[in-house]
Amino acid sequence: MKIAIIGGGAAGFIAGISAAAKNSRARITLFEATRKPLDKVRISGGGRCNVTHNCFDPLELVKNYPRGAKELLGPFSRFQPREIIAWFEAHGVLLKTESDGRMFPVTDKSETVVNCLLDAARESGVEVRLGARVKNIESCSENSKSPEFEIKLSDGARQKFDRVLLATGNSPQGYRFSAALKHEIVSCVPSLFTFKINDARLKGLAGVSFENATLTLENSSKRKLEQSGPLLITHWGLSGPAALKLSAWGARELHEYNYHCKLKINFLPGYNSNQIYSAIAEYKMQNGRKRIHSASPVVLPRRYWGQIAGVSGVSETDTWSGISRATMNKIVSELSGAVFMICGKGIFKEEFVTCGGVKLSEVDFKTMQSKRCPGLYFAGELLDIDGVTGGFNFQSAWTTGWIAGERMVE
Ligand SMILES: Cc1cc2nc3c(=O)[nH]c(=O)nc-3n(C[C@H](O)[C@H](O)[C@H](O)COP(=O)(O)OP(=O)(O)OC[C@H]3O[C@@H](n4cnc5c(N)ncnc54)[C@H](O)[C@@H]3O)c2cc1C
Repeated sequence: MKIAIIGGGAAGFIAGISAAAKNSRARITLFEATRKPLDKVRISGGGRCNVTHNCFDPLELVKNYPRGAKELLGPFSRFQPREIIAWFEAHGVLLKTESDGRMFPVTDKSETVVNCLLDAARESGVEVRLGARVKNIESCSENSKSPEFEIKLSDGARQKFDRVLLATGNSPQGYRFSAALKHEIVSCVPSLFTFKINDARLKGLAGVSFENATLTLENSSKRKLEQSGPLLITHWGLSGPAALKLSAWGARELHEYNYHCKLKINFLPGYNSNQIYSAIAEYKMQNGRKRIHSASPVVLPRRYWGQIAGVSGVSETDTWSGISRATMNKIVSELSGAVFMICGKGIFKEEFVTCGGVKLSEVDFKTMQSKRCPGLYFAGELLDIDGVTGGFNFQSAWTTGWIAGERMVE
């Protein structure tokens, strides 16, 4: 049985390795367009590679996928973080867990992961062809029992295969091949980005962070787009887990609004306006002679409190005894529902994933085989699946790649 894997990223390599482990008679060729296989693994996680996340309950795990949650539930019950951790361990790569659940190799070097996958592919007999860009794929047989494909490389060479796995990531060529083989491509837009915001309240505060804030997109869609978590002020706007998660869940809407949208922030989630007002009123009673700017009456970075007091009309010398009810109300609304205007998207450590890709209803997630073209399989980012930041994107590549590899050699 001749197997072609197109794309030498996380999904393609793990698929080749799992196919070889399942069927030692299969002849597996992996075509990688560049001379740098596993390049995204190499550069990921700031050169440390955030391999996966320590979340072992498939029902919890799928909650991290704005697209693909329903479809990944079955695959995660067969191959999830536990399996990839064990696989790497069996191949000499130990992973460690950071406080937020992200998992990295103990070496803190992505090269460890890259070398492990390259060695495992070589030892399993997978033929890895670098600089081998696939230009065209034709299905030569409609017979589901004996599918046949002809692959044409950019140097003109042609080769026939019984099964083909597309694992081309977000490359436009992969979408083109999929479309030519009868698949619908859900339009692609970026996911995982930071928010550009030009607002006096954030000026000069780059580096100030909030332990927990709730961000809500004020948009016209029916879906409530809201995420909570740590938030960071940057030179150009807002970043941090809460902003990144919101960019992923709201990727389509934000693209639709051309990245111009109102953003509401609750800096004190868990407290309602009345509770915040009462806390401020009590602080006022006990600290009448203190300057308002000198300390925050609620848990908030002091520099941001100064900014809020300023925009609420409080001068540097005003004391609590003289604060009006109207000013207190203004402060409460700045704390519980401050409105900012997003005016563009920024990058997050150059990490991004694509929202969109091969339509999921056209793929059988038990096997990762196409429902439209027998013998054709899909894995990784090429599919309309993406996760939030934290190792979830690699996990979906490991899972879909592993299953596709095993099932395509049966
Ligand atoms: C800077 C950065 C950092 C990231 N960090 C993380 C992280 O820490 N954790 C995480 O979970 N996710 C991270 N991601 C996302 C993660 O890298 C991707 O989700 C994952 O790499 C997808 O794997 P893949 O195998 O599907 O695609 P890819 O890794 O993109 O691999 C596809 C391969 O196919 C090849 N190819 C394309 N077209 C052809 C063709 N016609 N012929 C032959 N070969 C072809 C490409 O050259 C490429 O090597 C990061 C992404 C970026 C950009």
